[in-house]
Amino acid sequence: MTTTFADLTTMRIGGPVGRLHVATSVPHAIELLGAAGGAGDPLLVMGGGSNLVVGDVGWPDTVIKMASSELDIDGDLVTAAAGVEWDELVKTVVGEGLAGIEALSGIPGSVGGTPVQNVGAYGSLTSDVLDALTVYDRETGSVERWLPEQCGFGSHRQSVFKHSDRWVVLDVTLRLRRDGQSNPVTFPQVAERLGIEVGGTAAPADVREAVIAQRRERGMVLNPDDHDTWSVGSFFINPVLAEVPRRAAEAPSHPDIKGTKLSAAWLIQHAGFPPGYGRDWGNGTVALSSRHALALTNRGGATTADVMKFAAHIRDGVEARYDVRLNPECDLVNCSF
Ligand SMILES: Cc1cc2nc3c(=O)[nH]c(=O)nc-3n(C[C@H](O)[C@H](O)[C@H](O)COP(=O)(O)OP(=O)(O)OC[C@H]3O[C@@H](n4cnc5c(N)ncnc54)[C@H](O)[C@@H]3O)c2cc1C
Repeated sequence: MTTTFADLTTMRIGGPVGRLHVATSVPHAIELLGAAGGAGDPLLVMGGGSNLVVGDVGWPDTVIKMASSELDIDGDLVTAAAGVEWDELVKTVVGEGLAGIEALSGIPGSVGGTPVQNVGAYGSLTSDVLDALTVYDRETGSVERWLPEQCGFGSHRQSVFKHSDRWVVLDVTLRLRRDGQSNPVTFPQVAERLGIEVGGTAAPADVREAVIAQRRERGMVLNPDDHDTWSVGSFFINPVLAEVPRRAAEAPSHPDIKGTKLSAAWLIQHAGFPPGYGRDWGNGTVALSSRHALALTNRGGATTADVMKFAAHIRDGVEARYDVRLNPECDLVNCSF
């Protein structure tokens, strides 16, 4: 039976996979990448498919799915292969008494996928703890050890890996702490669950539990029985603007190195698209999550074309109301809106 991207992605949409190769170790990944040709040759590298939307036509060429599983814990330095499941890593290190990534609990996807958009949640970012990473350069065929400064982090959810097929992350080294205390808890709802003040700390294992409970309530922990989680998480990226249009002046904003970052969820909701919106729109197969306005969800039977149509509808509604054009946070391959 043909494998489709609907089988490999969390939104469960997308057409057939051309040639699927599963990299089971770092040396195997290097071998497969070498065989896949240079930077100009079509190749799709993926991990958990939790930030990836592929068109109904699929991808006719080579796909390498990273499933490498090497993991090494040396004091407070943790090195994990790109194919390790991110949340399994968080669970393991928290279990070892290490602190620093407990607020990034419950996020789907692979270790190799996390630097791509500098994954972040509840006040923590991958770049806060990244010590180094090993990268395969498809242009030169070389394997290089990089420092975080080379990754182009800074602006919201950006890196040199995003929208580039030149570099493939092979492994990631994180520098964590053994002081038994979490990072300061900055999210009021998480602090409340822990019974601490905002800015206080707790045992990393307790923070992990509180974050997962909070995420579950928001439909942000994968659950095959819960269509609110058949998504890519946030479909749209929080827009970063050099100048905020007058009509969007009331939207919550935060400074970003490239300008001002606005809340995409706020813009969507206030443009008339509340959580759950969409069940009565189009063919009803795509709707906003009933618990999070930023998550476009597959209610069952959606195609990528259905998702693109719905995404354009939301984008256009926000633009008409606020003069702000939303763009996808996820990677769109062979599809657009
Ligand atoms: C329910 C849900 C909740 C989420 N919550 C959050 C959240 O709180 N915070 C957040 O930041 N994100 C969140 N996400 C988005 C997603 O989980 C992350 O972006 C994750 O890191 C993607 O990893 P992946 O392995 O699934 O990548 P994939 O979806 O497989 O790939 C995404 C992109 O990364 C590239 N890529 C993957 N692996 C590699 C590699 N080894 N080297 C180079 N490029 C690679 C792919 O080519 C593609 O362009 C959520 C998603 C879902 C479904």
